[in-house]
Amino acid sequence: MKIGSPKEIFPGEARVAMTPDSALQLQKLGYECLIETGAGKAAGFSDEAYTKAGVTVLESAAALYGSADFIAKVRPPEQSEVELLGPGKTLISFFYPAQNKELLEAANAKGANVIAMDMVPRISRAQKMDALSSMANIAGYRAVIEAGNNFGRFFTGQVTAAGKIPPAKVLVIGAGVAGLAAVGTSVSLGAITYAFDVRPEVAEQIESMGANFVFLDFAGPAQDGAATGGYAAPSSPEFREAQLKKFRELAPDIDIVITTALIPGRDAPKLWLEDMVAAMKPGSVIVDLAAERGGNCDLTVADQKIVSSNGVTVIGYTDFPSRMATQASTLYATNIRHMMTDLTPAKDGVPVHNMDDDVIRGATVTKEGAITYPPPPPKIQ
Ligand code: NAD
Repeated sequence: MKIGSPKEIFPGEARVAMTPDSALQLQKLGYECLIETGAGKAAGFSDEAYTKAGVTVLESAAALYGSADFIAKVRPPEQSEVELLGPGKTLISFFYPAQNKELLEAANAKGANVIAMDMVPRISRAQKMDALSSMANIAGYRAVIEAGNNFGRFFTGQVTAAGKIPPAKVLVIGAGVAGLAAVGTSVSLGAITYAFDVRPEVAEQIESMGANFVFLDFAGPAQDGAATGGYAAPSSPEFREAQLKKFRELAPDIDIVITTALIPGRDAPKLWLEDMVAAMKPGSVIVDLAAERGGNCDLTVADQKIVSSNGVTVIGYTDFPSRMATQASTLYATNIRHMMTDLTPAKDGVPVHNMDDDVIRGATVTKEGAITYPPPPPKIQ
């Protein structure tokens, strides 16, 4: 069977779902690999590199969709791409079925199978396919680099002949995958790093990375409702007040704020308010990784960099993984290759779409003309 990757058509998207290296691995699973010409260019992979890796380069998306049994891509398909799907074809990409009901119905109407990489259950066995974590890791790293690029001083403290330079102070709000990557990057650059999360269980992890967990003076319940699967629930009003009070105290002293706080299925909680931005020093930087979901900072504008009236830069880019397209493509293509490994138990190029497998079942959102989203909860945790 054949697996192929088209060029991403979303404006500015530089990632690609197959790399020359992942293609070599896919061939070991028995698949013939295809790529649309130029699909890897923006991520640093030339047509020649694919050809050397045994991949057939096709001249158009139509040719690729026409020939491939599996279409691996990054972004959810546009309508024009859905039109190219059909019975017997399987699309593997980010899909976000909860937010994209019409798209789900359209893909299903074409009779195609869809495996949504964002629906891979977050169980230990599936970590190798967890593309959300791969991308969050890159976003966290890049957020710190982007902050540094917009900050007029060093991260690390120095004693130089020209004077003593204090280290920068960085606060990371939300210590999930992206937040932890930001903490690690910030610590490695030498900044004094603080981190906060509503889930107190991350405190030990933060401290072990050489950062400081921000504890609140608060005795009541932190979360308003039950947290599930390791995810946060909305904060109780009292907890939120205690949290905002703490952030107000920190604001005048912090140089860089990286916010990553999210609650599944909701808009991002507003945690860094206008008065906190106003209290920061000119030249400070805020990078809001929750911008796509409305932002954690009052001033964030999605996909833009703005400067507040007191000289604080607020960055709301939503394409951090694409800004590191080579790394992001390498990790994403590896996640896809692992999915194909699980779909091909005999390594003979013959997929077995086993709906009794928790991971395959969880990620499959349409199959042979039926919508299979939402899935039942996984049996194994
Ligand atoms: P996420 O992107 O949903 O949220 C980011 C962080 O924001 C979370 O740590 C959350 O607790 C925090 N947050 C929410 N509201 C907040 C508030 N008001 N103030 C401060 N912080 C707030 O998180 P994620 O990166 O997807 O990770 C969520 C959970 O999933 C974690 O427990 C993580 O360990 C787990 N996880 C498991 C796997 C796996 O087993 N394969 C993979 C990835 C993540």
